[in-house]
Amino acid sequence: MTSNFDDTSANTSYVGRFAPSPTGPLHFGSLLAALVSFFEAKKHHGQWLVRIEDLDPPREMAGADTLILKALESYGFEWDGDVVYQSQRNEAYQAALDQLTTNKFAFPCACSRKQLAPTQGLHQSECSPPASDQAFAWRFKCPHTSLEWHDQLQGAQHIDLLNEVGDFVIKRKEQLWAYQLAVVVDDHQQGITDVVRGIDILDSTAKQILLQQALGNTTTNYMHMPVACADNGQKLSKQNHAPALNIEKPAAILWLALKWLGLNPDPQLKYENVRAQLTWAIDHWDVSSLQGVTEMPAPII
Ligand SMILES: [Zn+2]
Repeated sequence: MTSNFDDTSANTSYVGRFAPSPTGPLHFGSLLAALVSFFEAKKHHGQWLVRIEDLDPPREMAGADTLILKALESYGFEWDGDVVYQSQRNEAYQAALDQLTTNKFAFPCACSRKQLAPTQGLHQSECSPPASDQAFAWRFKCPHTSLEWHDQLQGAQHIDLLNEVGDFVIKRKEQLWAYQLAVVVDDHQQGITDVVRGIDILDSTAKQILLQQALGNTTTNYMHMPVACADNGQKLSKQNHAPALNIEKPAAILWLALKWLGLNPDPQLKYENVRAQLTWAIDHWDVSSLQGVTEMPAPII
């Protein structure tokens, strides 16, 4: 898809992305994440890509990818290039695992949850090699240092790697690729420069930076935005049964989303179509009102 929102100065020095898992249809919380990454990309005259993170078949819903893409179209989004599906990228992930193993950044591990219970699931030192009949995962060998990085909305971040991260799984015992490895490989191969996503994924960032460093990739910029919460204080999510976005009448909901994002849209704008609303929002986009905010209540739709 070629984006008509792009002006002639579109460049590739900023490449953003929206990367939903097809575990259900798009909901208001995921619309917000899509909008922020889209507005940031447009503000920087960059590209905006869509990737479907279908790595975990037992959690997925048949047809959810189509529903998500239809919802994005209905809300006026236009993405650059073809949609990438993680389920088709096995070779790239295997090549990354081979590279990590060769360079001693990864090791096989058959430890059970029970064995890791005394450290609350943290894997803090290399274990005995698995027996030939044992199922095993591949873990990334976490350095026993600390890591610091800057989040564009949440500020300075500091993490004690040994006590807060540990050796983490990059390929599961069930032979499924772990989210952390797949995301890092895809972000690199798609040339992603800037990752925008919900603050609930902030904890993954250290793992992804470590993997980028071990694979010799450039570290991406990170922006973790606040999440929308339901009445019970829980984040709107598919797991919490957030309702699917209405794709028949998107204009009124899009207007509520712009308001939630601090854009202060004129009431009249809600009667305009989604394209007019997005064009207005790109012109007025300013991410600073979300600075340091971690959550806000979702509007009643
Ligand atoms: Zn182990």
